[in-house]
Amino acid sequence: ALLATPDYLDALNAGQRDAVEHGVGSPCGPLLVIAGAGSGKTNTLAHRVAHLVVNGAAPQRILLLTFSRRAAQELTRRVERICGRVLGTGEAAMAGALDWSGTFHGVGARLLREHAPLIGLDPAFTIHDREDSADLMNLVRHELGFSAAKSRFPTKGTCLSIYSRVVNAETDLAEVLKVNFPWCAMWEAELRTLFAEYVAAKQRQNVLDYDDLLLYWAAMMSAPQIAAGLAERFDHVLVDEYQDTNRLQASILLALKPLGSGLTVVGDDAQSIYSFRAATVRNILQFPQNFTPQARIVTLDRNYRSTQPILAAANAVIGEARERFTKNLWSERENGPRPALVTVRDEADQARYVVERVLESREAGTVLKSQAVLFRTSSHSGPLEIELTRRNIPFVKFGGLKFLDAAHIKDLLALLRWVENPRDRVAGFRILQLLPGVGPASAGRMLDAMAGAADPLLELVEAPPPPRAGEGWPALTALVGTLRGRPGWPLELDHARAWYIPLMDGLYEDAAMREADLLQLCQIASGYPSREKFLTDLTLDPPDATSDQSGVPLLDEDYLILSTIHSAKGQEWKSVHVLNVVDGCMPSDLGTGTSEEIEEERRLLYVAMTRAKDELHLITPQRFFVHQQSAYGDRHVYAQRSRFISRSMLALFEDMLWPPVKPAAIEGLAPGPVRIDLGAQMRGMWAK
Ligand code: ATP
Ligand code: MG
Repeated sequence: ALLATPDYLDALNAGQRDAVEHGVGSPCGPLLVIAGAGSGKTNTLAHRVAHLVVNGAAPQRILLLTFSRRAAQELTRRVERICGRVLGTGEAAMAGALDWSGTFHGVGARLLREHAPLIGLDPAFTIHDREDSADLMNLVRHELGFSAAKSRFPTKGTCLSIYSRVVNAETDLAEVLKVNFPWCAMWEAELRTLFAEYVAAKQRQNVLDYDDLLLYWAAMMSAPQIAAGLAERFDHVLVDEYQDTNRLQASILLALKPLGSGLTVVGDDAQSIYSFRAATVRNILQFPQNFTPQARIVTLDRNYRSTQPILAAANAVIGEARERFTKNLWSERENGPRPALVTVRDEADQARYVVERVLESREAGTVLKSQAVLFRTSSHSGPLEIELTRRNIPFVKFGGLKFLDAAHIKDLLALLRWVENPRDRVAGFRILQLLPGVGPASAGRMLDAMAGAADPLLELVEAPPPPRAGEGWPALTALVGTLRGRPGWPLELDHARAWYIPLMDGLYEDAAMREADLLQLCQIASGYPSREKFLTDLTLDPPDATSDQSGVPLLDEDYLILSTIHSAKGQEWKSVHVLNVVDGCMPSDLGTGTSEEIEEERRLLYVAMTRAKDELHLITPQRFFVHQQSAYGDRHVYAQRSRFISRSMLALFEDMLWPPVKPAAIEGLAPGPVRIDLGAQMRGMWAK
């Protein structure tokens, strides 16, 4: 029978429609959509999911993987909107139907909790964020005597990076040391010992780090009894931003969908920017080979986001890349200003320039939320943040300092985590050492005693106070006693807060300001059904910082977006400013300077430029500040425009100096009638 085309397909172009309709209603082979920025990949993915559901696919049997929780929420909302309308149920009725959407790590955590008993995990495991992982690595390092006895042993952060790369790239330690950390190669034997002990410590304490969420998931998939059930559970698995997945993630997908049936991945090799986390563009480039002959490939080359002048400049920048699969993009939005290349004196001027342009655009009707300022590294927005605060312009910063990075927030979360899992030593250390008079030695003894006890929290409550612990001790044991009695969620966070506030005066000078944050934390908590869900979500994808320091996005207010380029992935704004488009920053001179690294920096600039719909400003301060952890310390450098903007591209840009030379100043210089008093000059020569 001939079915009328559903109207939501009308707006799609032929390629997008191919991708959306691929294999719907029949056994569906693997599908790859590989296409440039703004060509509608994510949009196509949303329509594909909706189309699958409209045609009878069960939403709870669809697994949707994105690179952030925010991206997952946006995508599911779009699907719900389309489905609700087409199926006539309304959007609200669809809410929550796409139960399995999120990041690889988030979905991994959920699956692991569910299967914990089958794989020898205690389902009450807690998750360590990077900082906790580094702290644990440090504890183990000390215990093994590596940090003290061996001078110049890699720092805890470097150890963790090495460990993480070995895991995510599915390669061995020797190889990672040789390729990525040559200056640590002499420590191979010690590192091997350290990592073995780190893994053992995590297991004893029932904690998983970020990498474990993928590693255990992958391992679980190689157990035939479990793998079959999991592979059967999802009819469709769809992945956005596939160019930024690593080998471990590709293995997981392959295990979920061995023949690729029901598997859809979309991405853009020109936007691969996460190799420092072991992501590899090979995943996307080899997808067709991995799934020959069934794999269907769709490419798209019309960009719906940007004006042609912006695209032409972005095409030129990526056009000089060494290798690339996706083609140049074109847009039907012919008109618009050329992107500006703005040279300013220093970062203070850069901040003033941005603020001026932003206010001008707002005046002209572009709300702040439709404008973004992007930068390579979180610290680069410092001078701008000061200027924005001075001028009272609200902003939200993505990818920089997280709400969670604040010590007082971490303290409170560590307390909850410790109650959830009393074997979590990093959490225990953190809490015990908050008490005046309790140092690492007595904290360690206490934790050892707890580790050996059947009921660790009861052990703590009944233990004699450590020698120099003052009044803090009874307060802590009273709190733990209360929490052990399960007062309920989120009430227990209120108890914890009440305990913590009096301690803060001794810990921080700005305790009053921090108290407000704790209240915000309680507000966030009230949106969660349980402590465990709250902790998991906040650890995996913490809220971003905002200009009012409260950590909660100013939802109904208008605010400017500040974001690292990495966190800007997939998003778009009417007007985009890119800061510090200078050599040494883009490309950054922090890396080892291999040509692969430099190519990745080019892609980073490409990602930044392709976020802009209507207006793009690339700014080059002639002098800029470098934060360095080296013998030279922080310093100013005189900077050149990024090498990625080559001479041959200049015609595509509007090249300008700011502040502009003022007309008045030009008048002053203008040649007037010559009037030189030669007599006075002669007299002056002899004047005493
Ligand atoms: P990126 O590579 O940056 O992630 P993308 O390929 O995922 O980009 P989308 O974000 O899906 O691109 O789409 C870019 C913009 O183009 C969005 O505003 C989207 O609504 C719009 N768009 C996509 N397809 C169409 C279409 N067929 N008709 C009109 N607008 C479209
Ligand atoms: Mg996208």
